Amino acid sequence: MTLSLVEFLKAGTKPDLDSERGVTCAGELPAPSDPDLVERAKKAKAALGKRVMILGHHYQRDEVIQFADITGDSFKLAQAAAENREAELIVFCGVHFMAESADILTSATQRVILPDLAAGCSMADMATLTQVRDAWAVISELGIDSSTIPVTYMNSSAAIKSFTGEHGGTICTSSNAERAMKWALQQGERILFLPDQHLGRNTAVRYLGFSLDDCVLWNPWKPRGGLTDDQIRAAKVILWRGHCSVHGRFSLKNVQDRRAEIPGVSILVHPECPHEVVMAADHVGSTEMIITTVRNAPKGSKWAIGTELNLVRRLANENPEKEIHFLDKTICYCSTMNRIDLPHLVWALESLAAGQIVNVITVDETTAHHSRIALERMLSLPQTAHSD
Ligand code: SF4
Repeated sequence: MTLSLVEFLKAGTKPDLDSERGVTCAGELPAPSDPDLVERAKKAKAALGKRVMILGHHYQRDEVIQFADITGDSFKLAQAAAENREAELIVFCGVHFMAESADILTSATQRVILPDLAAGCSMADMATLTQVRDAWAVISELGIDSSTIPVTYMNSSAAIKSFTGEHGGTICTSSNAERAMKWALQQGERILFLPDQHLGRNTAVRYLGFSLDDCVLWNPWKPRGGLTDDQIRAAKVILWRGHCSVHGRFSLKNVQDRRAEIPGVSILVHPECPHEVVMAADHVGSTEMIITTVRNAPKGSKWAIGTELNLVRRLANENPEKEIHFLDKTICYCSTMNRIDLPHLVWALESLAAGQIVNVITVDETTAHHSRIALERMLSLPQTAHSD
């Protein structure tokens, strides 16, 4: 269909509900300027009492995180969801894949609510089930499927987690990727790492002793991943070509500039950052590790941190006696995580308090069954603590 210029300009003037999931809410979404939002959230939460548990990811805005019963990274929040059997309503202030994982791990009587359905994850969207099945078909055709173990980062759809469980693999997070990959290499000869190439590569090279040449990059947009059969067979780690739009932005130049500008600065980054950034950093670790490192750092120490900006700002506010910088000079929020704002939280809590269950995230039982196998495999892995 060809649009005229006038039709094209008009096309952007109305909401496109197919492409903008969650932009409308049933009922009235409070105005961001409403001065009573905090009081309204407190009142609705108090009315719900122990029926509700609010989980808040570290990358959330302060206005939302203040209402969280538990804050954490995706791993800690998955554990919290799995352990809680009391709250019938779990309001997940995170992104879609995290709410899916919570639904998989909670009981059938518990409901998981995502205050804005448009809170997705660009990385999770980079691996679709069809693409992963296509890749597995090539791996099977080469006769190496029984020796290839999928290791899938938490930041993935339930469909990919399910594929992983069904094919003998495990889920991992940035806290336990090393342990998960070591476990996988005890089960087989090579790993298919989904969907974050950087976490897979950084873990393989920094902790497992592999070279960059041991890792190949599977491009889902190219026939047979853009690789030769020999490259696939020889690889120790087949990395999926996905990345985080927040952490993937940090560059080696950011590290070099910060070192030149701030004498004595320590560079602390998340393993979702590109390999050259991780190799140039002083410390690398999960979100929880970043928080602990800064909290335990001596007074007067200087830090340039490569992770999501809401978290870096919170760390700077909580540690005024330390000098905290953002690694990049440009703004770097997770835009989808930021869709959960106070108006959406108030709307969700008030709806629940009024008996209207909204924005429920449900994973079908077949998908949930295999996902649970992969998630429970991860939860049974001992957590690895790195010194850096
Ligand atoms: S920070 Fe990156 S990986 Fe995390 S939710 Fe946002 S886009 Fe996804």
